[in-house]
Amino acid sequence: MISSAELAGSLFIVAAPSGAGKSTLVNALLAQEPNIRLSISFTTRQPRPGEENGREYHFTSAEDFLERRAKGEFLESAEVHGNYYGTSRILIENAMRQGTDVLLEIDWQGAQQVRKQFPGAVGIFILPPSIQALEERLNKRGTDEPHVITRRLLAAGGEIAHSPEFEYVIINEDFGTALSELSAIVKSARCRFQQQAARNADLFAQLGIHASPN
Ligand code: GDP
Ligand code: ADP
Ligand code: 5GP
Repeated sequence: MISSAELAGSLFIVAAPSGAGKSTLVNALLAQEPNIRLSISFTTRQPRPGEENGREYHFTSAEDFLERRAKGEFLESAEVHGNYYGTSRILIENAMRQGTDVLLEIDWQGAQQVRKQFPGAVGIFILPPSIQALEERLNKRGTDEPHVITRRLLAAGGEIAHSPEFEYVIINEDFGTALSELSAIVKSARCRFQQQAARNADLFAQLGIHASPN
């Protein structure tokens, strides 16, 4: 376990109901911001066509997942839409110690667990412009069976009900606008006092600035 004070990196938590555009927005952000590492979760869900083990997720069996969870390998884990999902603890802690920003694409249950451990984590919730748009996007994406889409749409209200727990909200109507808002949030988080002080320790010492207020 590392304390927030040690951290030069920022931890971003991005959550959304399925189909809101979370992965598309995050991938576009990463294409323009190379200094953020995306946490690759473990999941027991089946890979979708085009998904590769180790790229979108570490796909695994329920048996292996539960064994890892029992060993304490996950920073957080949750059951979402009938599958297990979990974030690897070691990957996150190593990246953050090196001052690398890390982004987690996780559900609200995972977000609650991470916030307890990293109170400085920046929570960002992505909303669709309407429930109808969510349905259209899930259908257009074409990666899930109709019964899976129905299950995800039924779960959307429950996920959205947790949006007030997040510091920032982005309404993903126009994609370009949503992407620039996400980028602005990342840039401002990096300018927080604690992160600047940790990244520029020598300069802060020269200027006689004490990193922790008292
Ligand atoms: P998506 O909804 O289309 O992004 O579908 P996914 O199958 O990729 O994700 C399903 C749900 O699991 C989403 O709510 C994700 O945010 C969540 N999720 C993915 N990875 C993790 C994780 O490591 N931990 C937790 N708690 N939730 C995760
Ligand atoms: P999530 O990761 O939240 O489940 P995705 O990123 O897979 O969602 O996006 C769901 C679908 O919606 C994809 O087909 C994506 O191309 C599309 N999409 C994302 N953002 C927008 C937008 N602003 N307008 C229209 N379609 C969008
Ligand atoms: P999908 O199966 O569509 O990839 O993801 C479904 C949901 O699971 C999404 O809401 C996604 O954010 C969530 N999810 C993915 N990985 C994790 C994870 O590691 N932990 C948690 N808690 N949720 C996750």
